[in-house]
Amino acid sequence: MTSALRQAVFLGSGRGGAYHGGVMALRDIVGQDRAVAQLARMVASPRRPHAYLFTGPTGVGRRTAAEALAALWLCRHADDDALAACGRCASCAALAAGTHPDYHFIHKELALHSEDARTRDSKMQDLGIQVIREFLIAPASQAAGMGRGRVFVVREAETMNLAAQNALLKTLEEPPPNVRLILLARSERELLPTIRSRCALIRFGSLPWSLVAERLTAGGVAPAEAQFWAAYTNGSLGEAMRLAAADLYAFKRELVDRLAGLVESVDADLSDRLLDQSDAIGEAVVAANRRLAKTVATRAAGGLLLGLAASVYRDAMREAAGVSGQRIHADQAAAIERIAGAMGPAAARIVDQMARYEQLLWRNVNPKPFWDNVVLSCATAAPLDV
Ligand SMILES: [Zn+2]
Repeated sequence: MTSALRQAVFLGSGRGGAYHGGVMALRDIVGQDRAVAQLARMVASPRRPHAYLFTGPTGVGRRTAAEALAALWLCRHADDDALAACGRCASCAALAAGTHPDYHFIHKELALHSEDARTRDSKMQDLGIQVIREFLIAPASQAAGMGRGRVFVVREAETMNLAAQNALLKTLEEPPPNVRLILLARSERELLPTIRSRCALIRFGSLPWSLVAERLTAGGVAPAEAQFWAAYTNGSLGEAMRLAAADLYAFKRELVDRLAGLVESVDADLSDRLLDQSDAIGEAVVAANRRLAKTVATRAAGGLLLGLAASVYRDAMREAAGVSGQRIHADQAAAIERIAGAMGPAAARIVDQMARYEQLLWRNVNPKPFWDNVVLSCATAAPLDV
């Protein structure tokens, strides 16, 4: 784990916020009792699996659990019954410092450090075979630096391309002695059946909104904002912490109010505001992660703003249809009611259009007319004419 990975980059796939120095014990992982109980049974079993597949949404504790398990395996004085590493031995210290020679965190950006020039220049959209060979298969066959074995954690395993998955199969099937692998993926369905069948599957679910809100509040976020991010991320602590840290809440409140205002009159400045905001977020992301291209960061920021807008109309759609249950924008209920009253069932069309705009973002669109069109769609639910 490098210091760059420790930076909380809220739009990137960097480290979630659920982790602050040191390595957590498995039993201290919150909101994932079933997954932790399953892991505890496996740790206690004489025939421990050597390969695991942790599935579930981003930011719910999969990586934290993988690190806790790695700490347990690598620690010299681990207490298996307590499911905790000692926290004091040389191995635990190295793991906490991010310098453990036997802990390998595999992700697609490792391509930047490849010995192969073509891999270094690749767009890194998927986790390619060269990264798997160079950073997983090759070191797996080498003796462990600190003696206990090696642990490989593969982030976004679902982005492994076919060649990479096939290359990994043999290591999964017959790993060298004392090598353990943990694949993190959104869902097991996105991996080859042959990969799935060689791993012990542990499912992580969304966290209760109340738990996420509680954690944010404990970190100094105001209760209404904490509630909002918990709901908006549907119980992803990592995502909620990243978004709260990005200081977007004031803008989201402004956005909801201005979208509500659209039902009565045209807001000529709203598209400029959205344009500026996506630029500003993009710049902040690039400042935190210089390896990211500005265009990519700005598009991702645009996607975030469209996602926020879509969530407003999703709430309005439920409101208009009389669906009960908690709203994402419960903190601005009056604005949601206003939009629901004016738009009625058309709110659903706006939700669809926001998704289409999000796809458009990744083509070469001119930002100003793009955001003008977004605002027009929000005001009138007019179909997207692109
Ligand atoms: Zn230890």
